[in-house]
Order: sequence, then C-alpha cells, then structure tokens
Amino acid sequence: MWFPTSAHHLPQPEWANTLLSRALSDQTEVNLYKCLETFRNHDEFYAERLAGLSDWRDIPPLEKSELASVPIIATEILYETRSSGTTGKQAVIKNTVLERRFRQALAYRPFLFYPLQPSPNNIIRQVIFVDGKYVDPADKQQWSFNFGGNTWLTWRAGIAASPEKIHALLKLVKPQILRGLTSGLVRFVEELHRPLEGLGVQIVSPSGEKLSDSWRTSLHEAFAIPVLDRYGATETGSMAWQCPYCHDYHVNSDEIIVEDSSEGVLATPLFIESQPLLRYRLDDRIQFHAAQKNCRIRLPVMTVLEARRDDWIIDGAGLKISPLSFQFERVAGLKAWHLHQLSNGTLRLYFDCETPSGLPGKSIREQLIKQLQEIVIGRDYELMEGVWKLKQVGKFKRVTSDL
Ligand SMILES: [Zn+2]
Repeated sequence: MWFPTSAHHLPQPEWANTLLSRALSDQTEVNLYKCLETFRNHDEFYAERLAGLSDWRDIPPLEKSELASVPIIATEILYETRSSGTTGKQAVIKNTVLERRFRQALAYRPFLFYPLQPSPNNIIRQVIFVDGKYVDPADKQQWSFNFGGNTWLTWRAGIAASPEKIHALLKLVKPQILRGLTSGLVRFVEELHRPLEGLGVQIVSPSGEKLSDSWRTSLHEAFAIPVLDRYGATETGSMAWQCPYCHDYHVNSDEIIVEDSSEGVLATPLFIESQPLLRYRLDDRIQFHAAQKNCRIRLPVMTVLEARRDDWIIDGAGLKISPLSFQFERVAGLKAWHLHQLSNGTLRLYFDCETPSGLPGKSIREQLIKQLQEIVIGRDYELMEGVWKLKQVGKFKRVTSDL
C-alpha cells in the first residue's frame, strides 16, 4: 500500500460516502515528508531524483517532457489516455482500471452536492460534450456508473457536430446534466438559436478550458440554471470544483496535493500508484485564498487565474508563442482562420476570405504572412485556403500544434 490516506484503497461502494464526509470535515494535512519517502521508495527514477532531499519544496517539478521516463510499476493491465496538452505537447498517461475508476469518482464528487433531482429508480442522465464530431444515438448501449446512490447514464456529443444534431439528442434523452468542454458547450448555445429552458437540464458543469465571465453568462442565459465549473487535467485528475454554496472552487486536497506556483500549478495525485506523479507541473496558474464565507464544504479554496484554451506555438528557437498573439481577425476581408503547427515545426495557416481570388485575396495573403513572420521567428509557413481542409477537430481551438 502506497498512499494510505487515499480513499481508492477502500472498497468501491465506500468511495462516494468517504469523499462526501471528508469534504464536510476539516482536513488533516497530508504528511509531506512521508509522501516524499513513499516516492523515494517507489523506483530508481524517484530515488535518484530525491537523493539528498528532505524538504518537499526542494523537489524539482516533474515536467511533461519527463513523463515517459517515470517507470511504471503495476501487475494489472494499464490503459493509456492521451492529453491534448497544455504545452502543445501530447502527454500519454497510463493508469490501472482501479485508478481510472477512482479518477472518475473524484470527477463525480461535486455532484454529491449539486442540486439534482434524479429520475425514478435514482437514474441520472448526462450528456458530455467531447472532442470530435460523433454524437451518440439516444438508444446507445449504456455502461452505467453507480455512484452516491445513483445510476449514471452517459451520452457523448462531439462538439464539432451540428448544434441541431446535438439538440435532437438532448430532446430525446432529457439529461439532468450537461458536462464537458467549455467552448463546445458555449458554441452549442450560441449557434443553436433556440430556447433551451424546456429541455429539463438542471446543471451545466463545464470543464477542460477556463470559463470566462462571458462564457459563463452565455451558458447561464441559455439554460437559466446553475453553471458550476470544474478544474482538472488529464494527467492528474479532477483538482477543483465550483461550490454550489459559496461559489468558490474547492480543491480535492485530500486526494491531490495541489500547490500554486508562479511557474504553473504543481499536482501530486495520491491515488495514482502505477506511474506516480510528484509535483507534476501544468502551465495553468492558480491561487489559494482564504474561504470567503463559512461554507459547509471544508476543502480549501482557490481561483483559477490563467488556464489556456489554445495550444502554444513553438518558434524556431524553441520558445513558446502565446496563441493570443495572433490577431488575424483584424485583416479586412478575412472570414475565418485556424493556425496549425505541424510536427516538423512548419506553420500552416488555414483561412477563408470573402473574395478568394483577385487583388483583395492577394492583399489578405500578404497581411497574413506579415503577421506570421512578425510573431513567429524562424519557422517555415504555408497558407491554405479553406478552413474546412483542416482534418483535425479538437476543442474548437484556433491554434493547434502537433509539436
Ligand atoms: Zn463552498
């Protein structure tokens, strides 16, 4: 047994109650010294990394580029999950079935507190907005998940699918919950132009991207129900969730050691033992703060300061270029654009303009090239007319990278 404080060692039917009661009671601090020793004893990678160290704060953060070097120690089958990555680099994580189930339970923790009315027989139906274009049929085969006394049924809606198609699924399924990629949910409500209040949705709970105030307003206005955000990462699991009582973000600090740092949030999940992550660094920035009100949820509270929506572009010198640097929208006559960086570093700018041929088109091309050259130094580039030619459908990012 590794991290004895993690609830994942308990029998699965006890997870929900444990996560519930712990959230309602004052936290005992995780013993960082013991935790450090646990890592030191896991494998040679950590033994070497922690040689001579006894202070947690001296432990070098684990970078995404190092992930593949962390040894895997497991006797069970491991399943891979790919992250689209906050650095533009894909990360592959490997978890056992138990770890994956517990990760799921942690993601469901907030729903133990959210105001939800299950259907008869304690059924809760949810539609999750995910990458891609595929939308589940209403009669899809279910692999239900039992948690907190309810049976959860799930449908998936690809955020690149037509809003009409997603709407048709919602009308048939009548989900209590909409979850999933924030920009996909926002795009859906903004493009559908239909009233959504009658669908019976009780909670909108986005995740995966920073929820801006304007996005929150869009979602709230469309459904006229609570919008409760969640924060996490593929590699680490669910880190924080918005509280229905105080509206702050409570941190799952009993299962993940979360540290705020100016270099990016550091996360140490205590329920991943096969390929454990010690102070794993994400590019997002968070800040802990004192609880504003006397909330019944006793988990610590934080604010997400910065979390990107797009991938980074890497220039010829290996430097990150913020996706927000590009302002192609300002080019007159340009209708749409998508910037994609190929795995060899070349930038491919897909675009649509109002008059594709002739002089205006030429002028637009020149302006696009000028901006690209000014912002990204030392990379080859190609222009490609027709945004639709981009095969990859992701989180509706306008800046994506294979690097
Ligand atoms: Zn609260």
